[in-house]
Amino acid sequence: MAFVVTKLCIDCVDTSCVAVCPVDCFYQPKEPGKEYPNMLFISPEECIDCAVCEPECPWEAIYPEEDVPEVFQDCIELNAKVDEDRDAFVLAEVQEKEPPTPEQVAENKRKWGLV
Ligand code: SF4
Repeated sequence: MAFVVTKLCIDCVDTSCVAVCPVDCFYQPKEPGKEYPNMLFISPEECIDCAVCEPECPWEAIYPEEDVPEVFQDCIELNAKVDEDRDAFVLAEVQEKEPPTPEQVAENKRKWGLV
């Protein structure tokens, strides 16, 4: 089991989660938007299930694998691409970013049919 970044992260990419992960298992595609979307990915092989990242994401994009919403079930396989296709990814780095407003978070969820 591992934690999973869902598509709620696409083009939002706040890296507060990256800053707290004790095992540095967040990755980003080398060429975002080409083969893989512009979002963070968690390596399921490296994640130790500590749960520290989940509350840090201002977009509420991270879930434990067993709680991933139906609409984001494909994200479980998508995150696993980090381990299957490692050459296409780089370790994510922390970047300063303005956190979203509650309205932006709600709108992003609506976009994906979550609310
Ligand atoms: Fe890293 Fe822990 Fe989040 Fe896994 S659950 S990605 S180990 S912070």
